[in-house]
Amino acid sequence: MLARMNSKIELKRVEFIPKVPEAGILYVSERFQVAVHSCPCGCGNKIVTPIGPSEWEFTEEGGKPSLYPSVGNWQIPCRSHYWITDGEIQWSYQWSEKMIKAGRRRDNAKLEKHLRQKARAQSKSFWKRIQHWILGKG
Ligand SMILES: [Zn+2]
Repeated sequence: MLARMNSKIELKRVEFIPKVPEAGILYVSERFQVAVHSCPCGCGNKIVTPIGPSEWEFTEEGGKPSLYPSVGNWQIPCRSHYWITDGEIQWSYQWSEKMIKAGRRRDNAKLEKHLRQKARAQSKSFWKRIQHWILGKG
């Protein structure tokens, strides 16, 4: 097992994400609203973190990237879990089966909330359109 030392990760803004990301680099494409990096445990898996209100929040300060919340790679064998904060990989506890399930539930709840809000906004504009139509406006 590899020693899990905290290590640095550099920010690289790109338009297109490379097929094989270089280790130690967080690629961020604002155009595609996604960040990608190579798993810092050394397994070489490509980790894709979409950026958005129901996904990861990407921030940068002085060229040092942060992602929020933590990155939990429970889909790949190494099950790495770490934080990317101020350009550093900070290893966290490993995911247990129970936590994986709880994490998924939390993600689902977050996604549902996001979709509900979106649906509400859409139905609002739908009623506005109907109103305009009835009142002969717009
Ligand atoms: Zn890994």
